[in-house]
Amino acid sequence: MANKNNIVIVFDFDKTIIDVDSDNWVVDELGFTELFEQLLPTMPWNSLMDRMMKELYDHGKTIEEIKQVLRRIPIHPRVIPAIKSAHALGCELRIVSDANTFFIETIVEHLGISEYFSEINTNPGVVDEQGRLRISPYHDFTKSSHGCSRCPPNMCKSLIIERIQASFTKEGNKMKMIYLGDGAGDYCPSLRLKAEDYMMPRKNFPVWDLISQNPGLVKATVRDWTDGEAMERILMGLINEIMEMEKMVSSDHCKISVGIVHEPLLPISLPVPLHLVK
Ligand SMILES: [Mg+2]
Ligand SMILES: [Zn+2]
Repeated sequence: MANKNNIVIVFDFDKTIIDVDSDNWVVDELGFTELFEQLLPTMPWNSLMDRMMKELYDHGKTIEEIKQVLRRIPIHPRVIPAIKSAHALGCELRIVSDANTFFIETIVEHLGISEYFSEINTNPGVVDEQGRLRISPYHDFTKSSHGCSRCPPNMCKSLIIERIQASFTKEGNKMKMIYLGDGAGDYCPSLRLKAEDYMMPRKNFPVWDLISQNPGLVKATVRDWTDGEAMERILMGLINEIMEMEKMVSSDHCKISVGIVHEPLLPISLPVPLHLVK
């Protein structure tokens, strides 16, 4: 990468990069919602997804059919430009998700954005010899607990965040993290962020509600967002702000006197041509 800027951006996947939950999307689109809801109270979500893949297989649904459904998953049109711009500015991008590798890789490859992510941390999803998708837990809770009571047994995202933080500390690099998420599973890692980091919770989604209940617990600066357009604007603003701050710190003669410009790098595109708007 040309100009690394020491900013690591961690994206949740479902309802953050894409606009829906990929697990629900596949189950609903293939007509298995009722069975899914029946079984949900009886087992952890991650185990249920493996079970649902068995149901799909038993009912003759092929891997290609699952892929086709994944390729038409809804995504806000400004999310991909936001990802590309952040990468072009020198940020390192990672995904931390409770979906699975098969769903995420199929989607990011289809969208042409897989090359922008240096790491995808999620539950393994592998097609077996029979052509059935097997989904297993990121953390094998049958062997040991990850020890966090806040999170589902298969994944505590904090452990991944801590590993990323430790890898930068070990290499002696200072790093600022920007974390984007919507779900309850994104709350635990938000508590692990440092004062110099940024938390971007999706407004009126579970992680935003949890942060709002006790805002003092999150050390990072919190900037909420509503949709892909706001995500792009706020994320670009933050990256510019951090890069300006770094420039000020590193220059001996600080010539920038007041304020930091918060303008987004890119013009915000309108969904409708101006002449069509009353
Ligand atoms: Mg999510
Ligand atoms: Zn946790």
